[in-house]
Parts: sequence; structure tokens; C-alpha cells
Amino acid sequence: MNIFEDTAPRATRHRPLRVAVLGCSGSIGSQTLDVCRQHADKLRVVALSVHSSTKTLVEAAREFGAAHVAVSDHAHVADAVLGELPGGCVMHAGAKGVVELGELPDVDCVVCAVVGAAGIASGYAALKAGKVLAYANKESIVVGGDLLMPLVRPGQLIPVDSEHSAIFQCLVGERTTDLRRIWLTCSGGPFYGRTRGELASVTAADALAHPTWNMGQKITIDSATLMNKGLEVLEAHHLFDVSVDDVRVLIHRQSRIHSMVEFADGSVKAQLGPSDMRIPIQYALSYPERWEAPCDRPDWCQEPPLTLGEADEHAFGCLALAREAGRVGGTMPCVMNAANEVANAAFRQGRCGFLDIERIVSNVMNVADIQRVESLEQLEECDAQARATAQAALLEVCP
Ligand code: MG
Repeated sequence: MNIFEDTAPRATRHRPLRVAVLGCSGSIGSQTLDVCRQHADKLRVVALSVHSSTKTLVEAAREFGAAHVAVSDHAHVADAVLGELPGGCVMHAGAKGVVELGELPDVDCVVCAVVGAAGIASGYAALKAGKVLAYANKESIVVGGDLLMPLVRPGQLIPVDSEHSAIFQCLVGERTTDLRRIWLTCSGGPFYGRTRGELASVTAADALAHPTWNMGQKITIDSATLMNKGLEVLEAHHLFDVSVDDVRVLIHRQSRIHSMVEFADGSVKAQLGPSDMRIPIQYALSYPERWEAPCDRPDWCQEPPLTLGEADEHAFGCLALAREAGRVGGTMPCVMNAANEVANAAFRQGRCGFLDIERIVSNVMNVADIQRVESLEQLEECDAQARATAQAALLEVCP
């Protein structure tokens, strides 16, 4: 018994928790499987999906004894390697197949780690089916927040993004009406401190040498442009019902403070820890409990000084664009996200320069026709239209 017992959350979880990992071959997906491996007594992997990495899917299905798998890319649903799936394992195909995994009756928790805006339909279906949703896909919340958030019951959606996990952890036991501001920490990315003149000539290879976190390629470029932080501002706005202007970005180079919340009385709570994505992933699966650490613990006496500072929204224009998209609301975040996915991919392919990413996003946002968000179909249409406009803008900016 301790004095906090009465304010502790009382969520109950099936034990072992039966987990579906959507996007299991990516960075978050494979780290999720690592957490499941380390806590095999508490977590059982029952369903797995990949886009096209069927070999990885088969290996994981055999290791964990998954009962259901899905391959979203139709070009890979007949790969020969799928003949080596464990006996009795049910195969689901296409984007629809991935959604089906999140609705299975023997799944308690869906870890949605698919990349980009493709995660909305599966998150939506998982919430409708009453599953706990560990949502690693920030684009889905940014684009579909107006549709997703009204479905969420308390304790049903647990963020996996490290900053949002930190905010969630700081808010446990608090009254949300006392929340005034969120301080979202940002490492600054690999190009921290550079001028626009210097940024004009950086390459994707420079950006992919990210200093702190182990991440996929799309998010690594987003971290370099600070679009990742912009998306996270919008993600925090939806998850914690705070206006975009009350989500402040704080440059914190050491990546030890994962974010902070400020309350009515001026008190600030922060969550600190190692820079290892397995911690927020594990917390999303263990909440309201805490399990043994999946990685080494830092010796806090030996840590370098922790610094805080302001983000340079002039040099890194994507951050300002994201905030603007949040202020406009409606389908504007969908337009911005789609344009960014096109520009991000073009930069990785060497088809445009670093600063062209924000030029393309800005050009597409300027001509967009913005509506209230009403359905998944509308968002899909808006996304496709914005991608086409972005392709045209790419040709204009980089002929
Ligand atoms: Mg993050």
C-alpha cells in the first residue's frame, strides 16, 4: 500500500496479452517482436503482417507460432516462401487482410507499426472492435485524428511514439483539465545548427547518419527536416486534446528527456530514460504495469549536462508548415502528410534537394481545397489527390 494507490489506473489486461503486430518487419515492428521475445511469459504473438517482406514474416511466424498472417502487397501474396508458414496458420491478403488481423476475436492488443498514412484503416477497425491499440503510426493520428479520437475509450489507445509515451506517462494519475502545455522534446536531427544555405546541399546519405535513435528511412528524413516533430505536434494535439499552439517544441540534444507536461499551477513533469524505442513499445504493452527494462540502464551520475533550447523554424520550415496545417485543421493535415510522403521519397531517391521538400509541401498546401473530415473514403481520396498534386509540384520544383 502506498499513498498513490487510489490514483493508480485500474485497466485490466488478458494474461498473456494476445498481440497482433502490424508491420512486423520494420524498425518498430522488429523491436516490438524483441519485447515479445523478452517477455514471452506475458505476451503472446498471435498475428503478424508485412507489406512485402515475406521471408521475415515466415521466420517470425515460425518463431512465435502465429495463427494468422497478412501480406498487404498483392505482388507478394503468392511468394514461394509462404509455403513454409507453420501448419494451420491462416493467410490474409491485401490491405483488407491487414485490417482483418486487428479484428480477430483472439487478439487483445494491436500494435500498429505500418509506415505512413496506410495505418488509418487498421487503427480504425481495431478501435471499433474494442481492441487496445498501441499506435506507432503517427501519420494515422495526424491525418485521421478527427475520425479516430471519438472512438477511443479511456486506456484503449496507448501511444508508442517516445515523446507521446512520455507525455502519457506524465499524465497518469493527473486530471487532464489541469494540463496547460506540452513541451515536446526534439533532438534537432542530424542538421541541427545549419543555415538554409548549408541545408541546400545536404544529401539523403548525410541525413541517414542520425545520431541517436534507431529508426526507419522515412522517419529519419522526417527527423532531418523536423517534419517528424511537426507531425508529432499534431499527434499530441489529437491525443491529449491540446491546441497546436500549446504544444511547444524544445530542442534537447541529449535525447534523455522524452517530453514534459506543464500543469495549471506551473509545475512541470518530465519523463527521462535511455533512447531505446523498446521502452515506449514495452510500456504500451505493459500499461498500467512496468516490467523489467529491455536495455541497459544509464548511470545518471555519468551523464553529460542536459540542455534545452528553441527550434529554428526559419531554417526548418516543415515545422512551421505542420503547425499551420494543424491550425487550419480539416483535411489540411492529410494534404500536408501526403505531400511530405511524396517529397520525402523523392529526396531519398535523389530526385530533389533537401529544401525542396518544404517547397513541395508548401506548394501543395497552398492550392488545396480543405474540407471537414467525414470518412475514411474521403481521406483516401484527399490523400490520392494531394499525392498527384505533389508529383506535379516535384516536376515544377525539380524539372
Ligand atoms: Mg518521436
